[in-house]
Amino acid sequence: MTRIAIVGVAGRMGRTLVNAVQQDAEATLAGGIVEPGSSLVGADLGELSGQGKLGVAAVDSLAQIVDDVDVLIDFTTPQVTLSNLAICAEHGKRIVIGTTGLSDDELAELDGYRDRVPMVFAPNMSVGVNLTLKLLETAARALGDEGYDIEVIESHHRHKVDAPSGTALKMGEVMADAMARPLKEYGVFERVGQCGPRTDKEIGFATVRAGDIVGEHTVMFATEGERIEITHKASSRMTFAKGAVRAARWVSERPAGRYDMQDVIGLN
Ligand code: NAD
Repeated sequence: MTRIAIVGVAGRMGRTLVNAVQQDAEATLAGGIVEPGSSLVGADLGELSGQGKLGVAAVDSLAQIVDDVDVLIDFTTPQVTLSNLAICAEHGKRIVIGTTGLSDDELAELDGYRDRVPMVFAPNMSVGVNLTLKLLETAARALGDEGYDIEVIESHHRHKVDAPSGTALKMGEVMADAMARPLKEYGVFERVGQCGPRTDKEIGFATVRAGDIVGEHTVMFATEGERIEITHKASSRMTFAKGAVRAARWVSERPAGRYDMQDVIGLN
């Protein structure tokens, strides 16, 4: 049985994760952490997530429960995630990180723990998205140098704070790697005013923020005479939460290293 604690347990993903852990026969809920000073300290995690009493109370510091935890699941903000990673390193714990929007410096800091902490870090924990990444790699390899323009369009709910989404960036990276075109050089993230015609090798990104959209990504490969579109639509956060719990069980038996969902579902 893998003992899991959830950071950001009052958040959109946090509350869904409580449900996902409860539904998993091989995982048990060892704790949930809310923001320091939150009025939710002491609240029952089951009641917080709309499932009725579970007998596990929210705390506002990981240090209070870390000894009773095997794996931490963290869907919060980059700074919170990095400070929890340091605590995992100190206490010999494992972590699944779903947080997106890390800067290059923050990514380098995260990577610095790969020799000490077994971690799964993925901008999207859904099995469907991770299969889509494989399809995109194949498509980019076959079409990238054959005159197809590549554009990534992503849509999310109005509360999302980073753009483009971590998933859109990951899609871009996978295709850029397959075509040996560094995304830093060929990614185009903004077009406004007299920006001139599209160049052949750029990978364009467009972002939609509206309403309650859980997460949609389309990659378009367009050329004279035809267009291929590969689309993934998430209709519930449960798909990310179930993937994260699966990742937690998987990483509970792995040595230190930085893994992603492709490793967890055996696509690497
Ligand atoms: P959210 O704002 O609903 O939840 C974040 C929660 O973190 C909030 O409840 C906040 O109170 C809490 N928090 C902030 N500081 C904290 C601290 N010090 N300790 C404990 N909790 C703290 O956001 P969300 O929609 O749940 O998304 C969270 C992150 O997960 C974002 O980066 C989002 O992009 C990412 N995300 C990833 C995936 C994936 O599959 N990898 C899927 C969905 C969302």
